[in-house]
Formats: sequence, C-alpha cells, structure tokens
Amino acid sequence: SSTTLSAVPILTKLQRDCATPLPVLRHVADAMAADMRAGLEADGGSDLKMILSYVDALPTGNEKGLFYALDLGGTNFRVLRVQLGGKDERVVATEFEQVCIPHELMFGTSEELFDFIASGLANFAQKEGGKFNLPQGRTRELGFTFSFPVKQTSIDSGILIKWTKGFAVSGTAGKDVVVCLNEAMKRQELNMRVSALVNDTVGTLAGARYWDDDVMVAVILGTGTNACYVERVDAIPKLHSPNSTSGRTIVNTEWGAFSSGLPLTEFDREMDAESINPGEQIFEKTISGMYLGEIVRRVLIRMAEDARLFGDSVPEKLQMSFSLRTPDICAMQQDCSRDFEIVGSILYNVAGVNSNSSARKIVIDVCDAIAKRGGRLAGAGIVGILQKMEEDSKGTVFGNRTVVAMDGGLYEHYPQYRRYLQDAVTELLGPEISKNIVIEHSKDGSGIGAALLAATNSMYG
Ligand code: ADP
Repeated sequence: SSTTLSAVPILTKLQRDCATPLPVLRHVADAMAADMRAGLEADGGSDLKMILSYVDALPTGNEKGLFYALDLGGTNFRVLRVQLGGKDERVVATEFEQVCIPHELMFGTSEELFDFIASGLANFAQKEGGKFNLPQGRTRELGFTFSFPVKQTSIDSGILIKWTKGFAVSGTAGKDVVVCLNEAMKRQELNMRVSALVNDTVGTLAGARYWDDDVMVAVILGTGTNACYVERVDAIPKLHSPNSTSGRTIVNTEWGAFSSGLPLTEFDREMDAESINPGEQIFEKTISGMYLGEIVRRVLIRMAEDARLFGDSVPEKLQMSFSLRTPDICAMQQDCSRDFEIVGSILYNVAGVNSNSSARKIVIDVCDAIAKRGGRLAGAGIVGILQKMEEDSKGTVFGNRTVVAMDGGLYEHYPQYRRYLQDAVTELLGPEISKNIVIEHSKDGSGIGAALLAATNSMYG
C-alpha cells in the first residue's frame, strides 16, 4: 500500500547508516585491540578500563571440597553451593536458591542490605546436608560475584565506586564490599568468609575453563555487555609489581565503554542523548539487550510520523521509552508465516496498533537491521580481543584451538543475533583460522565459576 511504500526510504537509509561491511568490522576489531593496549598501558588511558581481576590461578578440575557462591547483581541475589570431587568425580552436587531483594532495602543503609543477604546465606547454609560435606572445624568459603563497579585491590577485596541499576544504598560507597559482607556474616554468626570477589564475566571464564582448558575469553551479552580474557602479566605495563606465579591473569575489559568507529544512526544519537549516561557505554548501547528494542522503537516512531506506517496517528503506547523490548523484536523475527501473524499480535499487544502485512514486513526488516549490526559488531569486538592476544603470542591463539565462552540472555535467546555474530567472526578471520576459534555458549557458568575461584583461592591451600 502507499502508506508502507513511503516508509521504504527511511528503511533504506537505516540499513545504509548501520551497515557493517567487512572494512567497518576490520576497523572496529583493530580499534578494539588498540584501545585494549592503551588501557593496559595506564589507568585512564583509554575508553577501556582494562581492570585487573587479581585472578591469577584458574580452575584446573582438581578442586575438592564444599564451596559457596553468592551473586549480587540486580533485584535478586543467588546463592549456590557445590561439592567438588576432583578430576574424576568433578561436580558431585550443586544446590541453589534465589532470593528477591525487598525494594526498600535498595534505598536503605549498607548494614540493612548486607544483613539481609547474610541472613539469606545463613538460612541456606543451615540446609547443608546429604552429599555436601564440610570437614570438622573448617570455615565455609564463598566466591562473591558483585556486578557493580568496584576498584579491586586484591582477589578478596574491592572498594565500591558507586551503586548502579537503581540501587541507592547509603554508607557503602568508598567501602570494601568484602568487609561489609564478612562483618554481616559475623553478625549472623555464620561461619563463612569471602575468598574471592569476582566480576560476572570473570566468573563465566572460570566456570567454562573448569570444563575446557582452551577457554581464553568470556563475553556476556545480556541486558548489558562485558568481556574478559587471559592476559600475560608481562603484557600489562600498568602492573608494576607482578606477583602472579602463573605469569597470567584475567583482565576485565569493561568493553561496553568502547566507542571507536561504530556505525551509529540518528536514532542511536537521540537515545544516547536522552539516556541517564549520555556519551557513555556506546558499544553497550549498540549491541546489548537493554537497547536493541529501544532503537527499533525509535525507528518505528519515525516511520509512523513521517510515513504513516501505522495509519493516521502515531500509536500512543509506542511513544513510551523502552516499551518495545529486545525479546519482542526477537519474537517478531521468528515469524515466518505468510501474513506475519505473530508480528501483528506483538505490535497490537505492545503498541496497540493494527498493522497490515506490508507494514509488518518493514518492521521485521528494521529489527533485522538492528540485530544484524549488534551481532556483527559484537563479533568484531571478539576478534579484536583475539587479535590483541595473537599479536603478543605469535601463533598460539590463532594456531591452536581457542574457546570464547559466551553467556547472557541476548546471546542465549536470539538465534539471528548469534548467527550474525558468528558470521562476522568467520568473515574477519577467514576459513582457516576460524576452524580454531570456537565460540560457545556456557550457560550460567558464572555462579559455579565464583565457587571455583573460592576453591582456587582457598585459605586451606
Ligand atoms: P542480565 O544481563 O540482566 O544479568 P540475562 O543474562 O538473563 O540477565 O539477560 C537478560 C537480557 O537478555 C534481557 O534484558 C534481554 O535484553 C535479553 N533477552 C532475554 N530474553 C530474550 C529473548 N527471548 N530474545 C532476545 N533477548 C532476550
């Protein structure tokens, strides 16, 4: 129909503005590698913070005993225990629980929040039994995954820089979060201590490495995005007194802050300008789950306004920021029926609009353009990391089997995105090297990864 026809130029311009042909991908990969180097050189020297994790020893599979993990990163916290049986028995048993954090505690005091968490942990520890076995007289050890910005000072200490994701707890900023948790556990008379403070990407790498010695990189693509990798300590100029016995350490790139050479559209710029952190986390805003649906929504609003895509009026519900979510655009892309019935019902439910099949086809093309750019740029970022590692180690990365462990809801649930990511990696590396680079899903490895890092850093040796 004529209404959808006039949306075509907007679609064509969008596809052109966010295209990711090979030269663009190559530029992004090279810039990622260069920014990594700059960030390793000096703090503040790059978009990429390249944070030292103090994880120098990775799980080997020989770990034995009972270990706990706590994951605090949003509105829930998760607790987990694992009984490790060494090389032969591996994971003997695991158990976990999820606890919802009462809303008022997100705005309370530090003591209140940590007391609540410690009491949840104490409650969970009380139910220990069956295959779980703590030797007489031992203190339980915990790996603590804390997904807020911290300045880590050792494997078991880190200062909170600021709360994010809606938390506004008083009295924690500037304090060591490990001390906060250890003190709260003491107040609960819980015999447990934190052995490792870990970022969630680092936990994912450790969890995947337990099963596969070739894991060198971990990437999270969920609401946000981040990546970490195994680096040689002699390749980190800003590390002045390297005391890693393995000669290697995990570096948390904080790659969401990357910004060089990205093909951005007017819709990205407007979303960024209206965000709570304008000018920051540009890579994250282009590739991660929190934003893909929102970018599509902004394009559809333009098409409704300038080309009457949904008829005479601009749908009111669609005008609300973040009303179209990434799972919605993902679901629309799975629709291969002739009249795009699923797209029609999602548009109706989410935006309250009635659409004809040619409008629905355009909506799918918009979703595809945004998912394609996201997946391909994520792939280019991964190649950037691998390239940096390869340049420093001459052949050991591209010449051997090297595994990139992936996790996060976006990667897990969005098949087209995953395919675009893999395609970009293959295009950039070529058919020969691509055979050695394995990109694989490591589901929920980060919880068990934190427990494994508590084991590798156990005070009992
Ligand atoms: P988080 O990153 O919030 O810790 P997850 O790794 O589970 O948690 O990722 C959740 C994110 O994954 C959601 O915010 C959403 O963007 C994305 N996601 C979840 N389900 C889907 C889906 N079906 N299709 C596409 N993206 C999804």
